Amino acid sequence: MDKITLQANGKVNLTLDIQGRRADGYHLLRSVMQSISLHDTVTLRRKPLGQGISLSCDQPFVPRDERNICWQAARAFQQHLDLKDLSLDIELLKTIPVGAGLGGGSTDAAAVLYGLNILYQTELSLTALQKIGQTVGADVPFCLQGGTCLVEGIGEKVTSIDPFPALIMVLVKPNQSVSTAEVYGKLDRGSYGGNSTARLLEYLAGKGDDSLSAILANALESVTLDLVPEVRLWQERLCQAGAIVSRMSGSGPTVFGLFATRREAEDFQARFSGEAQVFVVTLMEQGVRVLETNGGDQL
Ligand code: ATP
Repeated sequence: MDKITLQANGKVNLTLDIQGRRADGYHLLRSVMQSISLHDTVTLRRKPLGQGISLSCDQPFVPRDERNICWQAARAFQQHLDLKDLSLDIELLKTIPVGAGLGGGSTDAAAVLYGLNILYQTELSLTALQKIGQTVGADVPFCLQGGTCLVEGIGEKVTSIDPFPALIMVLVKPNQSVSTAEVYGKLDRGSYGGNSTARLLEYLAGKGDDSLSAILANALESVTLDLVPEVRLWQERLCQAGAIVSRMSGSGPTVFGLFATRREAEDFQARFSGEAQVFVVTLMEQGVRVLETNGGDQL
């Protein structure tokens, strides 16, 4: 086999609490992350020895050199295994909006590691792949594990948990993007210490009486709201359209709304897709999935 195509699912943060800040500036978080059906497609092709790495992408603003997190993931894999040569073509087809808080780059990098492990028959464990992944991006260990997870530390501690109810999710990505670094940089200590993650864990384990709208919270929301006031407007519109709850994902500015029926979600999409990018997605049990290998086998 010298070619593999993978589905790289995006993620949302159902909750996001900030616990504090490490001496090196990284924030410590507690978050329930969820894989979603909005995905990129990543194809890896082995090339003849000595040709090095090449990368193509259908989005003009995504870097195609060593600045691309997929390139970094491939190099990290090579270093970990001490491979003298890694001659590889990476083809990215992006659907996940860039700089949206949906883990687009991280899931692409996770797909590269997952795919290389198959292509090179290296049989690294999930934990070993996650260790390599955390050196290239904080959300990569989660994207490798996928499903519904408690994510702690700076993203390196990932624990699978009870699945979230199978609600239909609408994502709204306002036209503006935000930089994750800028949002974290503006976060003050007053936002530290929320307990939405602990409360969601109780809810998913069948304990506690609170509703999802009372539980879900994102400590970064107030910072991003100052940069992109539209976030509030979309949350209000989603709730008016029948969403059970609406919050922001990651550092935003993407907003999600959870609906009981696909009909309500699709009505919302039909009404507002002229004003922002609107996606109707389902919650997924996997972060990365093999679509095809060059044996032609659909997996
Ligand atoms: P997260 O939710 O993990 O914070 P994000 O949605 O904020 O992710 P990305 O979409 O991963 O952010 O992109 C952030 C930056 O990374 C962009 O400015 C982009 O130029 C760069 N980048 C590097 N590699 C990729 C990639 N494979 N896909 C998208 N962006 C990439």
